[in-house]
Amino acid sequence: MTTDLAAFAAEKGVKYFMISFTDLFGGQRAKLVPAQAIGDMAEEGAGFAGFATWLDMTPAHPDMLAVPDPSTVIQLPWKPEVAWVAANPIMEGSEVEQAPRNVLRKLVAEAEAEGLRVKTGIEAEFFLLTPDGMQISDPADTAEKPCYDQQAVMRRYDVIAEVCDYMLDLGWGPYQNDHEDANGQFEMNWDFADALVTADRHSFFKFMVKSVAEKHGLRATFMPKPIEGLTGNGCHAHVSVWDLAGTTNAFADDSKELGLSDQGRSFLGGIMQHAVALAAITNPTVNSYKRINAPRTVSGATWAPNTVTWTGNNRTHMVRVPGPGRFELRLPDGAANPYLLQAVIIAAGLSGVRTNADPGPRYDIDMYAEGHTVTDAPKLPLNLLDALRAFEADEALQAMMGTGFAGSYVKMKTQEWNAFVSHFSTWERDNTLDV
Ligand code: ADP
Ligand code: MG
Ligand code: MG
Ligand code: MG
Ligand code: MG
Repeated sequence: MTTDLAAFAAEKGVKYFMISFTDLFGGQRAKLVPAQAIGDMAEEGAGFAGFATWLDMTPAHPDMLAVPDPSTVIQLPWKPEVAWVAANPIMEGSEVEQAPRNVLRKLVAEAEAEGLRVKTGIEAEFFLLTPDGMQISDPADTAEKPCYDQQAVMRRYDVIAEVCDYMLDLGWGPYQNDHEDANGQFEMNWDFADALVTADRHSFFKFMVKSVAEKHGLRATFMPKPIEGLTGNGCHAHVSVWDLAGTTNAFADDSKELGLSDQGRSFLGGIMQHAVALAAITNPTVNSYKRINAPRTVSGATWAPNTVTWTGNNRTHMVRVPGPGRFELRLPDGAANPYLLQAVIIAAGLSGVRTNADPGPRYDIDMYAEGHTVTDAPKLPLNLLDALRAFEADEALQAMMGTGFAGSYVKMKTQEWNAFVSHFSTWERDNTLDV
């Protein structure tokens, strides 16, 4: 673990540190600090005007200081003279409570205080588009069922292999890469880790994929539904909880249903009970709701849920238990803020553990074909406003996430919703002109 950034720079030949923090909308914001100046910055943090980002601040707020966490430093594999480091925002000596990395760190600490170490892996799907973002970059990628298309994945080998090589060098344990279910869509998988480590890697992965794609003259997007009619970008999260040493999986119990321990079941119960509200975090954009609740895609399935149900190894539900000792939350999408995604999983899960929450009945059915037969499970929100209202109505979840965070989040996201509805669309004209 690196503790001295100046020594790191000297050893690795780093000229600039990119001191990076993530705002409420998932934007990564950074200052490039020359290595000569890192000494003071490493202690005091780099200064930012919070209002200039999505953090619910005014222009009158004092400077926000982003204090780097040296354990996260990564030399950019595609630009080794620069090193990225994740930072924790503070203001006048106190942590900025709505800053996503702070929200997550607080929840990780709360879980640890109860002897729980949450480990997660994510599957951040993305599309490779033309630089203007309008079309799939590979004109030959037109199959009706393009998933695992070996010809198409090889046409993007230069991008995929470059990113995977970097992950190998970084020691993330990447283990597979494929063409996904939509034309132009890919997925790259690496090993699960502690929730905060996964959140930092998730952030860096997005930065890395976008940067490498740009280098190759392409545009990578994690937008939930970038192309109408095609499968969207999910960001499934696999979750297990371990002892503090990280050696025993507390979710694994072979004697229990699907190999999920009582604690795992309660954690899952928390996710199920708060699912409608937590969608405001896992599916945080207007566009997110075109991925869930979507009509059948060209490939035959959306692979996204529309109802709050769980099951065993069956991908048509919101939660799948693919094997003993873990579950997969299939709700999150590519727009999910890497830190808030992990935070809300811990918040809901931990509240479930505390209340012995019951995940409810398990439906071992094809939800796409037989979903209408399930009448006692809540439907996922139909749009961002419904999700935000559900989040506002879920006081327990808000308290777990921090009321300061919750207030700021709802305020900023409601402003975004209002901006969306005040936008005049062609659909309105087409359907209203002749009323
Ligand atoms: P899928 O079958 O859903 O497509 P992937 O192989 O693409 O699965 O991704 C699985 C993710 O789950 C990986 O990040 C993997 O490391 C992670 N994972 C595996 N086991 C666990 C576990 N016990 N706890 C948390 N994450 C896990
Ligand atoms: Mg200035
Ligand atoms: Mg996968
Ligand atoms: Mg996938
Ligand atoms: Mg998955």
